Amino acid sequence: MLIAALFLKKTTINQVIRIYREFLRRFPTPHALLSASEEDVKKIIEPLGLHHQRSKHLIELARVLVDKFNGEVPCDKEKLRELPGVGEYIISEVLLRACRKPEPLLDRNMIRVVERIFGIKSAKKRPHTDPAMWSFARTIVPKDPDLAEKFNFGILDFARKICRARDPRCGICFMKDLCSYYAKSARGGQVSTSPSLH
Ligand code: SF4
Repeated sequence: MLIAALFLKKTTINQVIRIYREFLRRFPTPHALLSASEEDVKKIIEPLGLHHQRSKHLIELARVLVDKFNGEVPCDKEKLRELPGVGEYIISEVLLRACRKPEPLLDRNMIRVVERIFGIKSAKKRPHTDPAMWSFARTIVPKDPDLAEKFNFGILDFARKICRARDPRCGICFMKDLCSYYAKSARGGQVSTSPSLH
């Protein structure tokens, strides 16, 4: 899961699938990755691009996993933060999907939906780095692990098909009676006046 999430940074899923399978076949554990040469790692991940940088990161990641966590990916937010190249989104993804913890997949799509429905606005230029936005998003994820996963993928699907960035389909949206953005639009108000989270 952690490797898949790292591969998907700046890469599409179609590019990743074949490389991911081959990578796991060659290096099924952090120990196996540590015993490989950087050249071997580069060769396998070359089609993904950024392979010089990525191979170094992956080997460094394997080193930390082996040295600090006995070769296991920890199911703990603070410990995951100690892993090189692993940011908030990947931490949440690992916790949600591999550790079955109720975490949000807070990308720009979920941020848009949350900001519109709840009428909030991150004070940061890059809301996905805003701790207040993460805290808020955590409050809306169901606690049940199965529901949490469904909820996250449901939001992403909803953001892609209904609450689209440029042209939200409010007229057919089942959330419109609860949506702050829709209420303001209906009153002719300005959406950009949403209150800050801070
Ligand atoms: Fe998005 Fe419009 Fe639905 Fe609100 S009513 S959630 S803005 S599509």
